[in-house]
Amino acid sequence: QSQELSEAQIDYHAALQALVENGTRMVCTGRMHTDRICRFESLCYSTEAEEFVYFHSNSSVMLPNLGSRRFQPALLDLSSVEDHNTQYFNFVELPAAALKFMPKPVFVPDVALIANRFNPDNLMHVFHDDLLPIYYTMQQFSDLDLEARLFFMEGWSEGVHFDLYKLLSNKQPLLREELKTLGRLLCFTKSYVGLSKITTWYQYGFVQPQGPKANILVSGNEIRQFTKFMMQKLNISLEESSSEEYIVVFSRTINRLILNEAELILALAQEFQMKTISVSLEEHSFSDIVRLISNASMLVSMHGAQLVMSLFLPRGATVVELFPYAINPEHYTPYKTLATLPGMDLQYIAWQNTDREDTVAYPDRPWDQGGIAHLDKAEQERIIKSTEVPRHLCCRNPEWLFRAYQDTKVNIPSLIHVIRQTVKSKPGPKKQKWSGSLYPGKVRDAKCQASVQGTSEAKLAVSWQIPWNLRYLKVREVKYEVWIQEQGENTYMPYILSHQNHTFSENIKPFTIYLVWIRCIFNKNLLGPFADVLLCST
Ligand code: UDP
Repeated sequence: QSQELSEAQIDYHAALQALVENGTRMVCTGRMHTDRICRFESLCYSTEAEEFVYFHSNSSVMLPNLGSRRFQPALLDLSSVEDHNTQYFNFVELPAAALKFMPKPVFVPDVALIANRFNPDNLMHVFHDDLLPIYYTMQQFSDLDLEARLFFMEGWSEGVHFDLYKLLSNKQPLLREELKTLGRLLCFTKSYVGLSKITTWYQYGFVQPQGPKANILVSGNEIRQFTKFMMQKLNISLEESSSEEYIVVFSRTINRLILNEAELILALAQEFQMKTISVSLEEHSFSDIVRLISNASMLVSMHGAQLVMSLFLPRGATVVELFPYAINPEHYTPYKTLATLPGMDLQYIAWQNTDREDTVAYPDRPWDQGGIAHLDKAEQERIIKSTEVPRHLCCRNPEWLFRAYQDTKVNIPSLIHVIRQTVKSKPGPKKQKWSGSLYPGKVRDAKCQASVQGTSEAKLAVSWQIPWNLRYLKVREVKYEVWIQEQGENTYMPYILSHQNHTFSENIKPFTIYLVWIRCIFNKNLLGPFADVLLCST
């Protein structure tokens, strides 16, 4: 391993001198620990203490300089999961002079991205918490290029999906345990610490029941730019002229099974007149699954992490998520939220087993596989009688686990009925139409002219020019919204207009000041900004 690090030769003496003289330099973005990413020069890590070390010297910099607020609760989140108390980052401080008494530093020459993976054995977590955030953190800082090296500090071993993490840079990612073999004191020449949360769409229910994040900032375009990158790295080319249309059933083989899978596959094939194939993480390579999904018309699967693979579906495809008995689809929506992100252009359908006869539960399994034998008798009975898991917090709610790990015999007519409510003819990729939505700019040169008729009547003629960007666009429908507000009042009269001028006479009084607000609207729902308010005196 240490050989790997020494690939890029550095002048050891100069590096050590720079560390002693300059100490650590840190400059961060973000106002709170939850939105902060820090860039460091000469951040060190003691593999014995398992602590990061900041060395003070005459030239060191620490921005933000929070004093003891750095511990309330931390400098930043090391994973993309918001404010999780097992994922905090901090460092301990020392004077650079202390280096004299410390183990000889080993320098890391690569630009480093230091972060925590959240749950590397679960595919949903791998993509949502790690791969997408790492990819877009690297896009944010230009020296985090393909030659950068990832350092995973959460302390897990590689995990089953490590090959996916390796796609993000040309250098082998290093795990916390491996750092010990490199030396006792590691010093990162240049590093970034923390992950961007800008792409995450779901919160797992640590402080309130799980659900979509309150302020989602990612759209299908950015998701698809990421999947394009991953597919290039996996050597999968998008087949533009897809020869045959087909449905993919993504099955689980260990638990939460579809008990009548063969029957389901036949029924789907017959109903939609399409080849229907089944894949699983156990029986197919990751690349094969991506290749199949990226050309599929429909993906059908039990609720579960494997459904995050709908990120690779082509535009226009349909996601069908199956929920076991007593699990309300509206309460568990990571994949619905993904499929319905603006610009993902996927259709989403949820089906729930509502028939007790069609479910098989496993009360005697260990608790983490949904067993409830460890609970007291009354609680076991209550759970077994219950027809819906009440909303709950993450992550060990026994009633939720009990229901989540049931197997299901899918009621085929009921499922086909639900799918048919959304998919009228054949499912599948729509003709690639430009669905990017562009917003209008401000209207320009707005003017008003008042005329007074007698003592009680007045008119207000308002005109404006089209937004500057409209002359370069083809827009199906252009409308203008005008609000007329009497100065000092907090209500206004709204109008939707098709032309660039209008004379208002209704409710216009003489000798009054009106504020006129104008904005352009494309295609009914693309609202532009208001132009500077117009002051009009009648
Ligand atoms: N998994 C799988 N086959 C199975 C059960 C699970 O491939 O039969 C995978 C699943 O996709 C996920 C991981 O194992 O990546 C953990 O599954 P778990 O049931 O714990 O989580 P969930 O799918 O409910 O998020």
